[in-house]
Amino acid sequence: MTTVLDRLDAELDLPEDEAMVLEQVRVLARDKIAPRAADYDASGEYPADNIADMNALGMNAMFVPEAYGGIGLSYSVYLACVREISKACASTGIIWATNFHGMKPVMDFGTEQQKRRILPTIAEGGLGALCITEPTAGSDATGMKTRFTPADNAEVVVQGGKIFISNGNVADHLLVFGKWSEIDDPKGAITALVVDKDTPGLGILRKEDKMGHRAAPTVALSFEEMRVPRANVLGEPGEGLKILLASLNKSRPSVAAHALGIARAAFEDAVDYINGREQSGRRIVEFQGIQFTLADLATDLAMCEAWLWRVGRMVDGGATDFGIEASMLKMRGSDLAMRIADEAVQLHGGYGYCRDYRVERLMRDAKITQIWEGTNQIHRQLIGRHFARK
Ligand SMILES: Cc1cc2nc3c(=O)[nH]c(=O)nc-3n(C[C@H](O)[C@H](O)[C@H](O)COP(=O)(O)OP(=O)(O)OC[C@H]3O[C@@H](n4cnc5c(N)ncnc54)[C@H](O)[C@@H]3O)c2cc1C
Repeated sequence: MTTVLDRLDAELDLPEDEAMVLEQVRVLARDKIAPRAADYDASGEYPADNIADMNALGMNAMFVPEAYGGIGLSYSVYLACVREISKACASTGIIWATNFHGMKPVMDFGTEQQKRRILPTIAEGGLGALCITEPTAGSDATGMKTRFTPADNAEVVVQGGKIFISNGNVADHLLVFGKWSEIDDPKGAITALVVDKDTPGLGILRKEDKMGHRAAPTVALSFEEMRVPRANVLGEPGEGLKILLASLNKSRPSVAAHALGIARAAFEDAVDYINGREQSGRRIVEFQGIQFTLADLATDLAMCEAWLWRVGRMVDGGATDFGIEASMLKMRGSDLAMRIADEAVQLHGGYGYCRDYRVERLMRDAKITQIWEGTNQIHRQLIGRHFARK
């Protein structure tokens, strides 16, 4: 039976084979990943069995091109799967999405040799990480200090460190941004480099103790005289900023899909609860004031989801200039996730504040979506400045 919520998704129009994949992911998320989410949140342990189950379904192969061991499905179905997994468990959702965020630039900018070496491991279930943020370079990533110095024997010596790196301690390949020592221009020096796990000099300084996403590891990394083959440079030295911006445009819709998964879960939980709970002899859902809240949330959710699928179609259609659309989606999708999670807690009354109900976790998980992949203040700035005439 088609529900109202299914109908809101009508803009997602997938070919039959992709719709089948999405259905398999939905079943996995519902039957295996969602039931484990509360325990992983409580323990903070890495959700290894979720990742194993996703690999058993070949989920990494989905976004890796066929030539490198994958099946190369569309960006739209990838977004739909991120939303589905994140709805079940936001931690697992961001681990999988980070894989894409770290490795998509290798697909888009890597040499044939780099792609042949790295992508088959990812298709088989390996993990990637994206390493941009540093202690003094957050919103302004161009202030990064990690230094790449070319050395004699076709190597690059990496010195510096990163903070807040998702998957940083579990990734097989880390895409690290730093500054090329031979280029003086601070922005023009930014360069991207693939670092393999177990490279001598790569250290894990600490794992963060976070409000939400407690099962998704976030770590600080150090690079001490770390020697990496020069063949691991992505593009040319100095092309890092171009790679960074293009990569963020594709990871921002992905973090929006993740946020909208949390939003869906919170909305559905709130609707279930207020249909069952009675006060003053009526179900909570029958109070008009509550219906007004639901109407606003459902409408905003439908608008955001329609925009998510629109951006997905743009990317699948080969668009290259979609930064403003991606920023709008990330900003509004994550603000909405936080708003719906907050309202869902409110609609559960005192029970919503207790860990027995999922909405308590959803509210903690929602908050970071407004902060990472460019804070929402930064996205407001990126969007707004498009309208300043030259
Ligand atoms: C759980 C988690 C996972 C993360 N994963 C990754 C990852 O995998 N890879 C990675 O590289 N990074 C990652 N990050 C880092 C994240 O992207 C940054 O935290 C974020 O970009 C903000 O940087 P900052 O924390 O240094 O805040 P700051 O830049 O110091 O900002 C502090 C506040 O000032 C505001 N502000 C800053 N500049 C402006 C401005 N120009 N105008 C208006 N307001 C402004 C910000 O919006 C914010 O509210 C992660 C962070 C967390 C917490």
